[in-house]
Parts: sequence; C-alpha cells; structure tokens
Amino acid sequence: MLTNYHTHCNRCKHAEGSVEHYVQQAIMEGFSVLGMSDHLPYPNFDYGFRMDFAEIEDYIAEVREAQKKYGDRLTLLLGFESEYLREYRRFYEKLLDKYGVEYLVLGQHFYDIGGHWQSAYDISDTAECVTYARSVSEGLDTGYYSLLAHPDIVGVNCLEWDRNMDEMTDIIINSAVKNDIPMEINANGVRRGYVTDGLGMHYTYPHFLFWEKVAESGAKVIISSDCHHPALLNDKDVGKCRTIARNWGLNVIEKL
Ligand SMILES: [Zn+2]
Ligand SMILES: [Zn+2]
Repeated sequence: MLTNYHTHCNRCKHAEGSVEHYVQQAIMEGFSVLGMSDHLPYPNFDYGFRMDFAEIEDYIAEVREAQKKYGDRLTLLLGFESEYLREYRRFYEKLLDKYGVEYLVLGQHFYDIGGHWQSAYDISDTAECVTYARSVSEGLDTGYYSLLAHPDIVGVNCLEWDRNMDEMTDIIINSAVKNDIPMEINANGVRRGYVTDGLGMHYTYPHFLFWEKVAESGAKVIISSDCHHPALLNDKDVGKCRTIARNWGLNVIEKL
C-alpha cells in the first residue's frame, strides 16, 4: 500500500505544482492515500517559506475541490506541516476544530527560546539539541499532531554525537511512543546525500544513530517523501528510505 502524508505545493513559494498535480501523480503511481501538508502560515508573523496567511482558505478550498474531483480514486487528506509554538495553541485548535483540517504534521523547523525563535538548522551546541527535543516533546503532548516530521533534523548541523545527542534522541522517541505518534524517515535528508565525519559516511538525516534507538524502541515509523515537486512523490530516494528502514529493522507502518 502506497501512502504519503508529507506533501507540499506551490503555495509555499519553494515548491512546484498545484494540489491537483500532486494528486494526479499519486494516482499515476498507484497511491491509496495522499496527504497534503503544506507549510502552515501564522496569523501575526511571516516566518517565510510558506503561503501567505490570507491564503489559508484558498488552500483549503483547493484541497476540498480535489477531494471531490478525485475522491473515488484515492483518499486525499487536508493537512498542514506546522511547528509547535505555544502562543499559537488556539490557532492550531481552530484549524482542527473549525476549519476541518484533517491532520497536522509536526515539523519543528524552529522553536521558541524565551520569546525569540531559533532555527533547528542553525544549532552550534549539542545542549541546544536537548532544548530542541523538549520543544518537540511538548508539541507532541498537545495531541494536535498525527505525525512527527524529520525527528532527527538537527543532524544537519553536523555536531559531534555526544551524550546530549543521545538525550535529544531519547526525549523525542519517548514522547513519540508515549503519544503513539509515528516518526518519519524523510526522503529530503537522503536527497541531501552523505557527509563524512568521525562516524564515517552517513546521512545527516535520517541519522543512523538516531534510528538505531528507534529500532530498539519499536516505535512506529512512516516513510515520507516531503516532496516539493510532483516527480519526487515516489522517486528513487523514497525507495532508498524504504530500503534503509528495512535494513535498520524499523517498525514501518503505511497508514496514519
Ligand atoms: Zn518546504
Ligand atoms: Zn515538509
């Protein structure tokens, strides 16, 4: 069964293709479920790399229309990929309760430290990765999220894998298991290619040391394309993720 719950579209300004393009690709590839999860914009601040806040209703309408048009051929879900920022709790609730958003993916690209935001891609100290993990865990505890995107994204900072990195890993895995939320092997990490450091040649994410612990935990895992182009929905790197997950002995599930 082919599914993908982490899909972007051109509204985020760094992807190509409309919702319909992704749906047509999914049908062509024989997918049963396609979840659209474009980056969520926030009401009072533009964090960049996402649709304008005023576009939310248009995006929802676009997905709803495609659901009507293609609903007999695949299950199309309306979602967003969203950070967890405490001050927006009401907003997340409104999306789920009033706008009928069907699921949220937690993609913690940045997090709040004492009122200013810190990018997960720009961390220089492993102790900060523990802070990052706590923000992810707090997000998962809210019950708003159905899937945790790239749980090992801090790997892009290529920091030495020390005890803080193990602690980061444990905090995130324990929270995902406790809340029964699958974690994602993200094909964009594979698309970035290998790095070579003291640990040898490996992906920055999915980072083998993170997923070694996931395998031990038995936590649920989902493969995501995180595609920003329809042609990447089920590309060779998604295939590599499936192979990696199998080789690492992960508990892969297909459906949320
Ligand atoms: Zn994106
Ligand atoms: Zn994404």
